[in-house]
Amino acid sequence: TGESAGAAVERLTRWCDDFPVSGVRFADLTPVFADAAGYRSVLDGLVAVAGDVDLVAGLDARGFLLAGGVALRLGTGVLAVRKAGKLPPPVHGREYVLEYGTARLEIPAAGIDLTGRRILLVDDVLATGGTLRAATELLESAGAVVPAAAVVLEIVALAGRAALGGRPCHSLVQV
Ligand code: AMP
Repeated sequence: TGESAGAAVERLTRWCDDFPVSGVRFADLTPVFADAAGYRSVLDGLVAVAGDVDLVAGLDARGFLLAGGVALRLGTGVLAVRKAGKLPPPVHGREYVLEYGTARLEIPAAGIDLTGRRILLVDDVLATGGTLRAATELLESAGAVVPAAAVVLEIVALAGRAALGGRPCHSLVQV
């Protein structure tokens, strides 16, 4: 047994004050993912909480790094939930508000049938929860079921869990 996800995140996370805007304390998990033991430990942690799903969706862009690894281990496919303008039409889209600004998420509306699919949503950080909520609603609007989300790090003071309105969200580390 190697280092726990909690220990790896504690050891390697780079905290950046006033990024990307004044007042935000940004948790940069890049060094965790770039570390072999760190990356393995967060994938292990996410797989352990994944539950019964048949597709893993990652949030643009750091969630992609996690979703592919988790999907490979679970034996599912992987889906990228993209920021606006990256996917060719037709798309399903949803606007949302996040800790610093507004954004829009999109998924393909052709070539993949999400009806009845059980999807695990994965991202690096749960902050205000706006991103995960919008992604959940987007996938549900496409007919999918999202039993849970899973993140590496939850910033508890930003109350993202409340924004998810009771939808389950697993976090490996809470600060
Ligand atoms: P939110 O919608 O506020 O929960 O924000 C979650 C998304 O924005 C995730 O994709 C995070 O990568 C990113 N994010 C928001 N706030 C932070 C933060 N303080 N540190 C690191 N990432 C953040």
